[in-house]
Amino acid sequence: MKEISCRLLVIGAGPGGYVCAIRAGQLGVDTVIVEMAKPGGTCLNVGCIPSKALIRAADEFALAAAMAAGTGHIGISVAEPKIDLARTVAWKDGIVGRLTSGVAGLLKKAGVKIVLGRAAFRDGKTVEVETETGQQLIRAENVVIATGSVSAELPALPLGGNVISSTEALALAKVPGKLAVVGGGYIGLELGTAFAKMGAKVTIVEAMERILPQYDAELTRPVARRLGDLGITVLTSAKAKGLAAKGDALVVERADGKDERIASDKVLVTVGRLPVTEGWGREELVLDMDGRSIRIDEQCRTSMRGIYAIGDVTGEPMLAHRAMAQGEMVAEIVAGHRRAWDKRCIPAVCFTDPEIVSVGLSPEAARAAGKQVKVGQFPLSANGRAMTLGGEAGFVRVVARADNHLVLGIQAVGTAVSELAAAFALAIEMGARLEDIAGTIHAHPTQGEGFQEAAFKALGLALHV
Ligand code: FAD
Ligand code: NAD
Repeated sequence: MKEISCRLLVIGAGPGGYVCAIRAGQLGVDTVIVEMAKPGGTCLNVGCIPSKALIRAADEFALAAAMAAGTGHIGISVAEPKIDLARTVAWKDGIVGRLTSGVAGLLKKAGVKIVLGRAAFRDGKTVEVETETGQQLIRAENVVIATGSVSAELPALPLGGNVISSTEALALAKVPGKLAVVGGGYIGLELGTAFAKMGAKVTIVEAMERILPQYDAELTRPVARRLGDLGITVLTSAKAKGLAAKGDALVVERADGKDERIASDKVLVTVGRLPVTEGWGREELVLDMDGRSIRIDEQCRTSMRGIYAIGDVTGEPMLAHRAMAQGEMVAEIVAGHRRAWDKRCIPAVCFTDPEIVSVGLSPEAARAAGKQVKVGQFPLSANGRAMTLGGEAGFVRVVARADNHLVLGIQAVGTAVSELAAAFALAIEMGARLEDIAGTIHAHPTQGEGFQEAAFKALGLALHV
């Protein structure tokens, strides 16, 4: 058996693992990363990036279809558009390929050794990797577990055949005629909306009382309205019970307790993701757990000395940018820097139509935390740029402490507002007050002006409403 040793071993080359390894390499830490599938992990291969590619294609198709139907109203006529999903998927795969080979290149440039294969702990300092050319033993002073997450399954709806997860949904060769989506959270809504725009008849089944229960109701209302406009049926307080005997329909228990059959060519199950805590020799270690995820402290240390965990395997929020920030921090800690998790916020963005951004506390969450708040909300219907984008159904909202105007939270819903996430997060991270945002010149015409106006509004000085 081949043997190597290193100062840092990273298991999993998703956003958490690859960022950790690149930074460690840059800092001169002798680093090895092991990946059993492809560099880039869930995010680059079957998550963030491919889903956004599909959403973009669906948006372009829906715009062309609206113009063809004469409902676009912007003076452009086109013939009826067609979508060849296999070619769209090939285009998406090209983007994924460029990014994943880019990650491999960045790792090499940082001097990181990449080992392809499945890693499993033998003990706290030794990991065995099953590679194509045989077993490899890696001894490491520090190990980072970055094994990510996988789609959760429902016992009544096991994946297989026409019951698919997001991974299969991102690789379909044709648009399903009828698509049932179980779970009205991030993935169900992002992909459900995309498939509806590409022509599928979509039904979304959500167990809770409303879609996207992790966001406040005011933020999700414009999204719910748009789902209706797109002809998507949304069943809330409804539970998927399984497939009908012939396999051509999803059986759902509705809010009133009655069963309903939803004719479906495909059933997409998007009921959350589970940390990958098996298959890498956890049984050889003594790690404290936090429910299904690995327990970590503010330096991403696990309960075993020299073993860290980052990203989805450490639980919610399962977001790529959180995994990356943890990875960067752990690399610096291993390199001997004094670091701890001191982030004021982790932005959340949902790429629905319209998009949702939430950073920091919502008004309800701030009040529930015992804060006296001022809230300023500016409608995008009063923003010129939003009108030109055709996305007036939204708003920007700023939540600040009533006494010293320190900004506690910023939310927005609207077309393309995801790009405002950077300004929102920066404001919170820098400890901005309402006056700082109001006093910053925001370029005209941009939707960012809505951010400034929301701050003006909270100060009682709105100009454009
Ligand atoms: P992962 O990306 O899951 O990577 C873990 C890696 O570890 C994998 O490559 C796996 O093969 C490898 N691995 C596991 N076990 C072993 C082993 N024993 N040996 C070797 N390698 C191993 N997040 C966002 O922030 N924004 C989005 O827009 C977004 N969209 C998403 C859309 C979809 C459809 C999905 C499914 C997820 C989306 N996410 C999004 C979530 C995001 O993908 C994850 O939060 C992110 O990938 C987590 O990174 P990670 O490094 O923790 O794990
Ligand atoms: P999710 O947690 O966002 O949503 C799951 C939904 O399924 C919830 O609303 C839940 O109430 C519902 N549900 C659970 N069991 C059900 C049942 N039996 N019947 C009907 N509904 C049921 O999970 P997801 O959409 O699978 O996404 C997984 C994770 O991936 C997210 O939590 C997020 O961390 C990440 N993600 C992020 C983005 C983004 O940042 N834009 C996009 C996609 C995924």
